[in-house]
Amino acid sequence: MKCRACNKDIVPFFSLGMMPLVNSFLKKKQLPREKKYNLSLSFCPSCYLVQLNKTVPPEELFRNYIYFSSTSSKFLEHCRKTANYLTRRFRLHSSSLVLEVASNDGAQLQYFKKLGIPVLGIDPAQNIAKIANAKGIRTIPEFFNFKFAQILSREKKIQADLVFGANVLAHVPEIVDFVKGIKCILKSTGSAVFEFPYVAGLFENKFDTIYHEHVFYYSLLALRNLFLQAHLIIYDVELTEMQGGSLRIFVSHPNVFPVTRYVTRMLARERKADFNDIHLYHHIKTNIEKLRSDILRTLTALKKEGKTIAAYSAPAKGNVLLNYFGIGSNYLDFIVDKSKAKQELYAPGTHLLINPPTKIYKKNPDYLLILCWNIADEVMEEYKNYHTKGGKFIIPIPQLKII
Ligand SMILES: [Zn+2]
Repeated sequence: MKCRACNKDIVPFFSLGMMPLVNSFLKKKQLPREKKYNLSLSFCPSCYLVQLNKTVPPEELFRNYIYFSSTSSKFLEHCRKTANYLTRRFRLHSSSLVLEVASNDGAQLQYFKKLGIPVLGIDPAQNIAKIANAKGIRTIPEFFNFKFAQILSREKKIQADLVFGANVLAHVPEIVDFVKGIKCILKSTGSAVFEFPYVAGLFENKFDTIYHEHVFYYSLLALRNLFLQAHLIIYDVELTEMQGGSLRIFVSHPNVFPVTRYVTRMLARERKADFNDIHLYHHIKTNIEKLRSDILRTLTALKKEGKTIAAYSAPAKGNVLLNYFGIGSNYLDFIVDKSKAKQELYAPGTHLLINPPTKIYKKNPDYLLILCWNIADEVMEEYKNYHTKGGKFIIPIPQLKII
């Protein structure tokens, strides 16, 4: 197998086996025809990029995608702060342009728009782009790539002062073509800002970011090599709390901004921690196997005591955990999710019917397994009453905790 970024040989290190598409919720009649795909990771010893061995065609993954950014209030707060911060930092104004790649339902762009800055979203999911346009966030339903960037730049004369992308860097299999597209659409003095889960999370048991949509798991070392292929420079980096630990990188054409000491330090830290060495990546499997046996032992004991357990929310990551650990109706009495788009549908792989969260108060399960563990605080606050009445929370990641 060859690296998707540099075309050298890659080395496999972790397999989750055959897994369903974790954002593809199913109608009852679709259940018998659900497809599963190989899900396994490799490391490139030449450019240090961690990547999926096999990808699923984006058309299959994203055309009827059920993920609305705007469902988590913590996420929306992050978007608001991000818009304020980037607007100040780059002195954006009424004649700037913020272009977001994979803009989803406009959750991020709406806050730039509120600040009076013109925005343009690009998102391949037609159903979601339609919702964004209806909210007044101009969104083109397309895949972003070099060819499309050329059309925007040459024919439509669109150049962005700020290109923004949350999670998209991990999603695009043709990643070199994608970053060349960024080079093409970015104004000579502009910045591109990307947020994505940091590969370091895999060493802290946050393995549930591994699913078919996430083709890449980035270290700064790997990213630097990637952007150099398009003659772009990473000049700044920040760690954020999103998705349980993400990086935010700042990219520009060469010699526009000085490279900050944060970049130099993080690169040095990654080298010291052996992020450029395959041996480090082999630990991931051992750690996850241990977490799996801890969680299954606990759930088995609770079931033996006759306790009822419900799962709270069915995010993609939660479906990874349930499927890889083999947790379904064997342990769970039911599952709920806030998103109306998911309710009345069946969860991928486990085929559990998604209920509205009101069922928690109706059924009062003894335990609530929080699958969106990265926003566990938000959930526990919302379900304070459930806890006061004796209900308990199970937080599975990064370490199993019962509260
Ligand atoms: Zn490579």
